[in-house]
Amino acid sequence: MFHRLKNDFRLSIITLLGLSAVFGITPFALVRLWQGDMMAGLVDMSIMLGISSSVFYAWSTGDTKRSGMLLAVIACGGAIAIATIVGEPGLFWLYPCLVTTFFLVNPRLAGVLNLLSIVALMMVDKAFSSTVHMWSFAATAVMVSLCAYVYAHRNHSQRKRLRHLATIDPLTGIKNRRSMDEELNLAAANAERSGLPYALVILDLDYFKKINDRYGHHIGDKVLTDLVALLEHNTRRSDHIFRYGGEEFVLLLPGVDGASARTVMASLQAVIQKRLRHPGGSVTASFGVAQLGHGESVASWLARADSALYAAKESGRNRIVFADEPGQPMLGSA
Ligand code: GH3
Ligand code: MG
Ligand code: MG
Repeated sequence: MFHRLKNDFRLSIITLLGLSAVFGITPFALVRLWQGDMMAGLVDMSIMLGISSSVFYAWSTGDTKRSGMLLAVIACGGAIAIATIVGEPGLFWLYPCLVTTFFLVNPRLAGVLNLLSIVALMMVDKAFSSTVHMWSFAATAVMVSLCAYVYAHRNHSQRKRLRHLATIDPLTGIKNRRSMDEELNLAAANAERSGLPYALVILDLDYFKKINDRYGHHIGDKVLTDLVALLEHNTRRSDHIFRYGGEEFVLLLPGVDGASARTVMASLQAVIQKRLRHPGGSVTASFGVAQLGHGESVASWLARADSALYAAKESGRNRIVFADEPGQPMLGSA
């Protein structure tokens, strides 16, 4: 439970807001029911029920996007309903809602929801004792929303940028090893569920250090970006390419096994040999290929592909070695 709260930002916000809303509204609901204000008390109870259900939905399905949206709509709709019933004192409830919408849905949607809520409240006659009050409310509510929007927008773009920095390799623009770990785990889970075969390829450029030493680091960098362009051009949209580190890359090929794996790999090897060049000639690569075994862990899958790559290097480079089933010795090479 704490692990989920720690790792899922939106879920923790939904839980925190849900709990504070329930603790904040309960005394009002009880007092209103106690004083015989049945209508307001019942609305309070319905808001709490709606909020608790959204939190429960988020925890049970993991769909924090939908439950965040639901929570934001219930909070704003509830505040409008309360202001309609109890008049001016109910207006104060809209202010926390105007801020929390930005935690629950994306900044633009929250802005629209806030604007609609403010306009809807302005149309409730009973909510304001004078026109001056109404416009004061509108001005302050818009100001609160604008400040929250600016903050949320900045926060949103910084989180996006951080995610980009953490998952994308700056030289080649493809996903890095951290993203690879996530994708391989997803692939293994999907294979278990659907039975879809997956091939994993570790590709390592041959004698790459010599290219750097002879022509300079910038030429080495160019070879790496050219290789990525070639790989992207010669794989399917559903395939994934990751920079494993240095001049090593990993390809994750869904739906590829047996004969199709051999065809795909032979064609990649040929394309690289023919098209990847440094100023003195062509560049080749060695490949280790492993099919995901039934119930196999990602660590074992990667280790088998890595051993296959090692065998490809040992047998002279510019080779493809296919790892055998988990627990068996390696066989084929090309
Ligand atoms: P092998 O055929 O056995 O794979 O030999 P190799 O020379 O390709 O492998 P080695 O591990 O000896 O050298 C890898 C080199 O890759 C060393 C390192 O300087 C270089 N390298 C790693 N990352 C980068 C990079 O981002 N840009 C450039 N230009 N070179 C890099
Ligand atoms: Mg190498
Ligand atoms: Mg290497």
